[in-house]
Amino acid sequence: MNLAVVGTGYVGLVTGTCLAEMGNQVVCIDTDAAKVAQLQAGQVPIYEPGLNELVESNVSEGRLTFTTDARQGIADSQIVMIAVGTPPQEDGSADLSAVFAVARMVAEVAQGKRVLVTKSTVPVGTCESLQKQLDEMGRPDIVVVSNPEFLKQGDAVNDFLKPERVVIGADDPEASQLMQELYAPFLRTGNRMIVMDIASAEMTKYVANAFLATKISFINEMSRLCQRVGADVELVRAGIATDSRIGDKFLFPGLGFGGSCFPKDVKALIQTGQQFGCDMDILSSVVRVNEQQRTFFFDRVLNYYGGQLQGKKLAIWGLAFKPRTDDTREAPALSLIEWILERGGSVQAFDPKAMPKVKQELGNRIRYCDLAYDALEGADGLIIATEWNEFRRPDFDRMRRLLNHPVIFDGRNLYSPDRMAQRGFEYYCVGRPDPVLAEKPVAEVAAGVSQVVN
Ligand code: NAD
Repeated sequence: MNLAVVGTGYVGLVTGTCLAEMGNQVVCIDTDAAKVAQLQAGQVPIYEPGLNELVESNVSEGRLTFTTDARQGIADSQIVMIAVGTPPQEDGSADLSAVFAVARMVAEVAQGKRVLVTKSTVPVGTCESLQKQLDEMGRPDIVVVSNPEFLKQGDAVNDFLKPERVVIGADDPEASQLMQELYAPFLRTGNRMIVMDIASAEMTKYVANAFLATKISFINEMSRLCQRVGADVELVRAGIATDSRIGDKFLFPGLGFGGSCFPKDVKALIQTGQQFGCDMDILSSVVRVNEQQRTFFFDRVLNYYGGQLQGKKLAIWGLAFKPRTDDTREAPALSLIEWILERGGSVQAFDPKAMPKVKQELGNRIRYCDLAYDALEGADGLIIATEWNEFRRPDFDRMRRLLNHPVIFDGRNLYSPDRMAQRGFEYYCVGRPDPVLAEKPVAEVAAGVSQVVN
């Protein structure tokens, strides 16, 4: 098939490339001329495992091209996919201006029938409004279909090539059929194509993200209680995750969720609830717990230094919002950096992939180190903010020698507290017994309770 993908970011580039990999002819369109020029020169502007190789082979075999010229891109495409950003506005609702701009542009330049697909995450009702706009522009032959994307950054290529499911929301049988044909090659191992009405497809994406975010906030809230009562959330997690009704995914305590999707999508769903007079109590708490999780961790750091960071030099390992990506949107590390700098501290940081993006944002406000160990040199402590694999088994002796003071604040629970004590570190992590936070030993609290009960 001939396809156009509009918006060549994390979703658009992976989508376009993987569709080309299946033999389709794909044009990726973006308004960012610098990004398009980079792609035309054979450079992939984002880090996503496996993507470089796939872009290179599909470009060289002539199935994948890049342009800023929408007219040229859309001329021969049966299907046009919208993969532009839908960032949050002040009130939490999704900014759909780019999505509507693309639909208008397609209506203006497309000659004849098209299927217009929303791959961007858009609130329920958006496809209906887009169709209305197209009808009013005299283009009812452009049919809108919802096809939310579930790939996760860091494993996006794999997720796209072997999806657990593909959701298609279509009211038009012909458009639905075309979409099913497009995705059939990706679902050869029996995974499911789920075809539904448009509103349900739009909701499916938000409900999936909201549920995953809820799991993260849930375990984070539990981690705080565990720490307080002298329990170890990692053991509790293992204890519950073996229950198949609960499962072991997305139950890792840490610094809270970040990235470009969960924070924005949960807030947008709360907004949709408000719009329709439906309180989203659970989701409001999910957001609150998530925000508290970062400040709770930072308070622990601050507390360690007696509330004073003036003149303190802190090392940070990990800047991306999660491993295997260079994306730093809503990354916990960036909040921590701001709070340290605000208090007169300094930061020397290392991330295997995200440093160029952070440099663009923070410039020389922090020091960037070429190696993880360089960041430790002369530092008063280390904060671990992203669980890159290479941080899991470092040379602890070397770390102790480089740090001014051997203290680690681990926001990702990478190490065993007992082993860290043996290695000569003061080690603070998430949701495990903490001598300072557990102001009263749990036995004392329990004794108090039993006295009251008696
Ligand atoms: P992104 O910011 O990486 O990419 C968006 C791209 O769209 C940019 O390159 C931008 O220049 C381009 N663009 C903006 N307006 C344009 C226009 N009018 N015409 C052409 N190009 C335009 O965003 P992303 O992370 O790829 O997310 C895109 C959408 O997909 C969002 O709605 C997001 O919620 C959703 N989504 C993202 C992920 C993810 O993991 N990032 C996963 C699933 C769904």
